[in-house]
Amino acid sequence: MMIAFTRATGQRNGARHVWIGYSRWSGNPATGRHDRGTGSALSGGLAGALATGYAVLEAGGTSLDAVTAAVVALEDNPLFNAGHGAVFTLDGRNELDASIMEGRTLAAGAVCGVTRIKNPVLLAREVMEHSDFVLLSGTGAEEFAATRGYEFVPQSYFYTDARWRQLERIRAGDTGLSALTIAHVGTVGAVALDQHGDLAAATSTGGMTGKRYRRIGDSPIIGAGTYADNRCCAVSATGHGEVFIRAAVAHDIGARMRYGHSDLAAAVREVVLEVLPAMHGEGGVIAIDARGEIVMEFNAEGMFRASRRAGGEAEVHIYRAAP
Ligand code: ASP
Repeated sequence: MMIAFTRATGQRNGARHVWIGYSRWSGNPATGRHDRGTGSALSGGLAGALATGYAVLEAGGTSLDAVTAAVVALEDNPLFNAGHGAVFTLDGRNELDASIMEGRTLAAGAVCGVTRIKNPVLLAREVMEHSDFVLLSGTGAEEFAATRGYEFVPQSYFYTDARWRQLERIRAGDTGLSALTIAHVGTVGAVALDQHGDLAAATSTGGMTGKRYRRIGDSPIIGAGTYADNRCCAVSATGHGEVFIRAAVAHDIGARMRYGHSDLAAAVREVVLEVLPAMHGEGGVIAIDARGEIVMEFNAEGMFRASRRAGGEAEVHIYRAAP
């Protein structure tokens, strides 16, 4: 699941605030990957996080605070593969990754492979704001967390029956399940533009079910899963992390805007619908440019996504037919 939201400048559409969220869906409802109830619970969780982040913008808060709040809400919801609902590694653990970036300063922070951190996005922000580093890993990240008085949880906090059953199917060699179905993956993220014209992006994930060897995906990699630069756009990605790292997805979208003079929609389309499929990379992104233009694109069957524009209603969608 991913969420994005932005405040439009008002020059394009007169809107004061805009909020958009999205999440990838790779499963087919006809195959029963998701029942209707789960789908509506996921939509409800997405809408709730949307409201949380939008409220920050509406109260005059920064895009950084807004994306942080939205991602925390998704990390706390056991239905999403981040924080509480993180998927399991092959050896039955939970290893979490997260990152955050501020478009005005290009400051960034990230953590990967943490196992006892309730809200990895908050720790990523601590790294950004209170360390000399960008990316901390595993026990080192947790050592840093302790110095910041950070809240630790036992591994059991991340246990959910649904995720454990998914692991058991993988362990039993269920090849009917694609490694990329929503049952196994699904990152959460947010992008935003605030009333000061500042962009921000944040991403958090449990990674992929059955991952091993301390594998790290794209989500904590600045430039791959997350990027924000006021000169172009903010991007958060969900998808097959190995390919997203190789394609430097989030940075490539911004670079196409800055150097190639593409607009946001063209840049996102080129990367998500041309570059990634050519590399067999399934997934999508949410992106917002400095003018408040929002693009959510994916090359999977669908993507949970939600939006709210100033004076408008929140919208949550799954399939391509929706905006
Ligand atoms: N990008 C995540 C990873 O590779 C997984 C996902 O977004 O579904 O860890």
